[in-house]
Amino acid sequence: MTEHAPQNAIPRIPLNSGYDIPQLGYGVFKVDPAQTEKLVSEALEVGYRHIDTAAIYGNEEGVGRAIAASGIPRKELFITTKLWNDRQAGDDPRRALEESLTKLGLEHVDLYLVHWPAPANGNYINAWTQLITLNEAGLSRSIGVSNHLVEHLEKIVAETDTLPAVNQIELHPAHQQREVAEWCRSRGVHIEAWGPLGQGKYDLFGTPAIRDAASAHGRTPAQVVLRWHLQTGNIVFPKTTSRDRMVENIRLFDFELSDAEIDAITALDPGDGSGRVGAHPSELN
Ligand code: NAD
Repeated sequence: MTEHAPQNAIPRIPLNSGYDIPQLGYGVFKVDPAQTEKLVSEALEVGYRHIDTAAIYGNEEGVGRAIAASGIPRKELFITTKLWNDRQAGDDPRRALEESLTKLGLEHVDLYLVHWPAPANGNYINAWTQLITLNEAGLSRSIGVSNHLVEHLEKIVAETDTLPAVNQIELHPAHQQREVAEWCRSRGVHIEAWGPLGQGKYDLFGTPAIRDAASAHGRTPAQVVLRWHLQTGNIVFPKTTSRDRMVENIRLFDFELSDAEIDAITALDPGDGSGRVGAHPSELN
């Protein structure tokens, strides 16, 4: 088997903006800024074309250098970045996006997200209104939100009558956020699942439903979990600093889980929120 995944194997999902997004990408949360150019270059080499970063990650410049060095045509790339919580007020989102674009060396991003609602600050409706203006100005092809619960989504839509293209939320087999996911899916708002492997913080891979499917298909538990995301419609961008795992995490398009295997993995969420590995959206400000 070649190291490179066939590009045309990665499905592209149409967004409500009229643009589409590769369903699988590479995420760079907690990737050391000094390592970012090298790691994103490797990800592009092994076949990823969708990169998920954020202003708060501090590594947009490394992403930008890797893009510039790759020689890959801009239209083949899908680049996401995010507005941090302390830039939501007034017209600061425009300055924040312009700073991100300078660091990335781009004229537009493909997707710009409000990173967290940060409800105690009281600015997320303004932030969403500003993103709509930035979208109209062509600085981002599509716009969306992240970590928004139903109460936040209902407020931004009531205020602006504009649905986000995506909601990027913590989602993995042990924490599926069914209420917000259903709200989004029923309105054509696509789910981007962050922490798709549970950030490696607990033993997803020792779980029988995952382990059994992995041995049935001759795959790794990580591949089974990522395949479950793809087959249930989620957009994912697993993070790793290992080239071998980058290759492992993109080799997902030559096997398929059965309905019974999907159902067994979907049954893993205890439904009480105890599987959450990150912050609660009502509490992070
Ligand atoms: P993840 O679930 O992708 O887990 C990453 C960890 O999983 C790695 O550190 C590694 O230990 C392990 N891993 C990766 N590949 C593996 C493999 N093949 N086998 C075994 N273990 C493997 O978690 P993440 O990095 O938090 O999420 C992915 C991306 O989502 C981030 O890089 C970032 O782009 C985005 N994200 C967004 C938010 C947000 O608030 N919007 C928050 C966290 C992450």
